[in-house]
Amino acid sequence: MAEAHLIIRVQAEEIYFNQEEQDKIKALREKAAKEKQEQYCEEHKYHCFRCGLKSLVEVQKGNIAIDICVNENCGAVHLDPGELETILKDSGLINNVRNSILNVFK
Ligand SMILES: [Zn+2]
Repeated sequence: MAEAHLIIRVQAEEIYFNQEEQDKIKALREKAAKEKQEQYCEEHKYHCFRCGLKSLVEVQKGNIAIDICVNENCGAVHLDPGELETILKDSGLINNVRNSILNVFK
């Protein structure tokens, strides 16, 4: 009877240690994944979402800064959150932005 009790206790400790090790492994994996993602984001910071080249130029117009891809075969325009709404509210700003974009290719 006492033996059976001992066996159960040892198994419980093994489960505890395994869980602790698993938690450590999980934490290390999560840390590595986070660092990998941060490194990827840093490396691709100025890359165009469309053509993938490191070709973004920031054009400041009024109170918004728009990232424009200067790759001649692309020309994608990147907007930060809220910038589209700002542009749509002001039709004059749309023309300013359009002219700024066209000037980049002149
Ligand atoms: Zn591009």
